[in-house]
Amino acid sequence: MSAATSAAEAAAGGARLVVDGMVVEYPTAAGTVRAVSDVSFELGAGETLGVVGESGCGKSTMARAVLQLPAPKAGRVLFEDTDLTTLSGDRMRRLRPELQMVFQDPVSSLNPRRTVRDIVAEPLTIWKKGTRAERQQKVDEMLHAVGLDPQEYGGRKPTELSGGQCQRVAIARALVAGAKLLVCDEPVSSLDVSLRATVLNMLEDLQDRFDLSILFIAHDLAVVKNISDRVMVMYLGKIVEIADADALYARPAHPYTVALLDSIPDPDPDAPAPKASLAGDPPSPVDPPSGCRFRTRCAWAQDVCAQVEPPLAEVAAGHRVACHFPFVATGTLPIRERDHTAPLPG
Ligand code: SF4
Repeated sequence: MSAATSAAEAAAGGARLVVDGMVVEYPTAAGTVRAVSDVSFELGAGETLGVVGESGCGKSTMARAVLQLPAPKAGRVLFEDTDLTTLSGDRMRRLRPELQMVFQDPVSSLNPRRTVRDIVAEPLTIWKKGTRAERQQKVDEMLHAVGLDPQEYGGRKPTELSGGQCQRVAIARALVAGAKLLVCDEPVSSLDVSLRATVLNMLEDLQDRFDLSILFIAHDLAVVKNISDRVMVMYLGKIVEIADADALYARPAHPYTVALLDSIPDPDPDAPAPKASLAGDPPSPVDPPSGCRFRTRCAWAQDVCAQVEPPLAEVAAGHRVACHFPFVATGTLPIRERDHTAPLPG
């Protein structure tokens, strides 16, 4: 989707968030960083979109630009039909309670000198929501919702909590003032593996309860698998594949997605080590490769890949891929049985 009419259709079709043609660039000493290049997608009410890619692929920059932190250089961000990129500072501030973010490091995202109760109450105080008693009641409700007993934890400070408890407090703070869109930027990456499933399950419960739309960012496809309704894979500032989660894991069509899936370790300690199908580092976003940006690391690259940028085209209903030679024919093979030495497609 890139035309304005597409964005309007998506909004009319009930999408809570529509991102249309987003571009984020910023100058550096080395040149202009093309962090996000013509990215378009939509997110429904109560839907979770997993956003995955290696470090530097633009996923966090894109998510922050959705929240206008800062605004993108070009493109539109429609939140419930309102284009956030055109709002004045005052109107944007009034919408902030509905647009919230949870960060990777829960401990450093909380003020160590304040109590849990004060931290969670802060958005209500800033936006002057309710009386003091109502705010107190709302804070207690949110602490219960994230699994923390207000009597036991309300008076503690972040330094007296575990990382998982700090992330629960951060989520309570994000939701207390009525968030509708939650951007979660690697929210479980810094937690022990044993805690991750607990926090992810809690997020799913909160989503049902509060009808949240969630942009869930991770560098690892394994993390977003269970929580995402759809998954979007980014590479060097571009969407390379987007599909329903089940379809993407069962029938990945882009070589980069296949490589990411191949690199997921098997929980079985006796299983063979993951294939190292993704060699080298991504190129610089200051000077991305011509044509397909993935071509310098793609085993299937052919001449056309350097000359023509592949469009994000539909290969199945709701499944779009930016590749001249997508894996549609071999898509039914289990990931680990894919032959990366197979003859070139086409
Ligand atoms: S367009 Fe070409 S280089 Fe890019 S992912 Fe597809 S096969 Fe590889």
